[in-house]
Amino acid sequence: MAGKENGNMIRVRGAREHNLKDISLDIPRDQLVVFTGVSGSGKSSLAFGTLYAEAQRRYLESVSPYARRLFNQMSVPEVDSIDGLPPAVALQQQRGGTSTRSSVGSVTTLSNLLRMLYSRAGDYPKGQSIIYAEGFSANTPEGACPECHGLGSVFEVTEKTMVPDPGLTIRERAVASWPLAWQGQNQRDILVSMGYNVDIPWKDLPAKDREWILFTEETPTVPVYPGLTPQETANAIKNKRTPDYMGTFIGAKPYVLKTFSSSQSELMKKRVSQYMISASCPLCHGKKLRKESLSVGFDGKDIAVLSGLSLSELSVIFKKYAVLQKGPQPEKQIVTQRICADILSRIEVMLELGLGYLSLERTTPTLSPGELQRLRLATQVHSNLFGVIYVLDEPSAGLHPSDTMALLGILDKLKNAGNSIFVVEHEIEVIKHADWIVDVGPGAGGNGGQILYSGPPDGLKSITNSTTASFLFDDQTPDIRTPRKATSQLSISGACRHNLKNVDVDFPLGVLTCVTGISGSGKSSLVSQVLVELVADGLGQKTDSGEERVEGPESTAIAPVEGKISGGLTEITRLVVVDQRPIGRTPRSNLATYTGLFDQVRKRFAETALARKRRYDAGRFSFNVAKGRCPHCLGEGFVMVELLFLPSVYTPCPTCNGSRYNPATLEVTYKDKNIAQILEMTVDQACDFFDEDPAVYRALDIVREVGLGYLRLGQAATELSGGEAQRIKLATELQKSQKGSSLYVLDEPTTGLHPSDVERLLVQLNKLADAGNTVVVVEHDMQVIAQSDWVIDIGPGAGENGGKILYSGPVEGLIKCKESKTAPFLSAYLR
Ligand code: ADP
Ligand code: ADP
Ligand code: ZN
Ligand code: ZN
Repeated sequence: MAGKENGNMIRVRGAREHNLKDISLDIPRDQLVVFTGVSGSGKSSLAFGTLYAEAQRRYLESVSPYARRLFNQMSVPEVDSIDGLPPAVALQQQRGGTSTRSSVGSVTTLSNLLRMLYSRAGDYPKGQSIIYAEGFSANTPEGACPECHGLGSVFEVTEKTMVPDPGLTIRERAVASWPLAWQGQNQRDILVSMGYNVDIPWKDLPAKDREWILFTEETPTVPVYPGLTPQETANAIKNKRTPDYMGTFIGAKPYVLKTFSSSQSELMKKRVSQYMISASCPLCHGKKLRKESLSVGFDGKDIAVLSGLSLSELSVIFKKYAVLQKGPQPEKQIVTQRICADILSRIEVMLELGLGYLSLERTTPTLSPGELQRLRLATQVHSNLFGVIYVLDEPSAGLHPSDTMALLGILDKLKNAGNSIFVVEHEIEVIKHADWIVDVGPGAGGNGGQILYSGPPDGLKSITNSTTASFLFDDQTPDIRTPRKATSQLSISGACRHNLKNVDVDFPLGVLTCVTGISGSGKSSLVSQVLVELVADGLGQKTDSGEERVEGPESTAIAPVEGKISGGLTEITRLVVVDQRPIGRTPRSNLATYTGLFDQVRKRFAETALARKRRYDAGRFSFNVAKGRCPHCLGEGFVMVELLFLPSVYTPCPTCNGSRYNPATLEVTYKDKNIAQILEMTVDQACDFFDEDPAVYRALDIVREVGLGYLRLGQAATELSGGEAQRIKLATELQKSQKGSSLYVLDEPTTGLHPSDVERLLVQLNKLADAGNTVVVVEHDMQVIAQSDWVIDIGPGAGENGGKILYSGPVEGLIKCKESKTAPFLSAYLR
């Protein structure tokens, strides 16, 4: 027995990645293994940072150096040995948006099948010869519309966009699209030299002059005399006076296009993009393909139409063709049936995973990380791989409980095909389904990193220091609480976005509201887009949330939200969107700098006797400022060593030994610690250290309260998980004004959080509401929904079958709402 088990075990010895404490454990193969533990305990460090990273490293050793460069390599894990490790496929969520431009069709490979279908089994018009599959792709020269090169839209740079006010003269900057400052003057002076009148209103210039100035491709070089009047300039040219310099003209439109396509500066690009409008391509009408390709039909539709349908609609169509039909061309019928049956079986998995509302043409940056991961998962079911480990990161994220069973079914399918499924997960239903649980803890960061339990689920019951055990086995019914009363309400009317059609909805103010509904029902469209954009607009506040801004023509196509605020806006003074995006993208930003805590600490150092004597100000104690930082690593504390074909490694800077500061700065101490030693402290340690300094202590204490006492003050933003970043943002908010007139918006804040962390989050949200603020949360977590004051349920289905407000009222009332898919799951939490 033992022997057999050993043969089927992955044996990890001495894992020390991140906070893992030199741990050793055996994990079974060919099973569903769930990694549990509070956020920051080390689950991902074990599953992704160690097991997956090691599997990937071994695989990459076997491929050519060239191929290696194509992989997004993880660093080599800190571990003594791992035996019995099969190859691994990671289905990790990329938080904070994906950068690659792809679509649902390409991620799932359904687009390829569809092209093959049109090529081999499409209905061709008479005389049209067969088109190869590539001819149905807008990304190939064979398929792309020649007018828009497969973009579906064209840029127009017109007189109207470039000259918004034709009443102005050229001297008064009538051509608004020209560069500012000297470059713009230069263009004007060149026109003066060429004899154009720059002092009459633009609209009074002859049409052919206006045409030439804006659109010419010519770039004449002429003598320039800045500062001279037009008359003086004319004389100077006549007298062949030596010019100040020779200037080259560029037409206003060519300037816009050239800057947009080749400027290095994002700012310049952004500036000129204001003068470009994107319009649907006049040739293909946005369908991106050439007309021959669009002439081929299937089920009476061209491939662009089919790609725009939802997966649910597609399944209905393909069902018809997935059975063999009799027809005049038996060979074609067979091909049709084969391809359609294949497409159908793939789509059905996606429907099971609750993704039926997506269309093939939907681009991946507009998908949530959870949706994308489930798409990848669905695709894997058909890959026919076996003997591999699938490593997944919270596959239940974004999934309504009504869809969780289907998810488990898919995981079982992959397992039964002979694979090992490793899942980092917090959702109780998924944990209960596990064959094996690896519980990491007991706490987070330095207080975690140990294996509390590794074995079948039942055995976890007896592990007393496991937070997971209590949530899994104890009764979790929360106390019934009296809901808060709304002080007023924010009314939105006529909201339209995606599947929301003319929706009227009231958000109660001064309370905690949950917006619920199945995946794709329209929650994010309503909250993160309609609500956020209308309120931001009403307050004149800028927000970068909502739709992900993507480069390229599509970005200009995003229309503003339709709808208006019909009441209650005056009660709100500030809008705060708290998301899980990183708090900074460089190691130069960290917990201490983000929360503003570090400003206080640096002041304390500047006030010490030695600093005063040496005239060091607070700036001296910043590792971002030249005077105080280490000149070798420029305050980073480490230097990168590039290894050819291998991931670059970071090593502590040899000059400052990782302290980030120069020696003179480190000589200054405050209560016997230098500034680098302060950054090394955890929040908990710093609380003790600064306990007599109310300003610093208060900021630290709030970070500790949100459960991040284990983080080091100097821990780089890039080393924080999404959940950690979110809580730092909340903590930063909590220490700001407590005036109760802010609106806080959170989209699935429990993603990545252990039930015990969800409780902590609830405490914070309740504090905000207690202070009279309004909190609106998109959520699937029943624990959170059950404790909210008000629920708005959207549905009943996803996509076109959703988008309606089914219920709006106190939590208890939702249970009686027959149409709601949330109601049945909620009753267990309300007793
Ligand atoms: P979990 O998956 O359980 O939430 P993680 O494995 O992500 O936890 O993190 C465990 C600990 O390691 C946390 O304290 C976290 O801040 C830290 N950590 C995570 N990523 C890095 C990194 N790239 N470098 C250093 N520390 C990290
Ligand atoms: P939820 O938040 O409830 O999961 P969403 O608001 O994200 O739902 O989606 C509602 C509907 O709007 C779905 O049919 C979805 O496919 C569609 N949708 C969401 N974002 C986009 C987008 N960027 N482009 C096109 N359709 C979208
Ligand atoms: Zn076109
Ligand atoms: Zn250094």
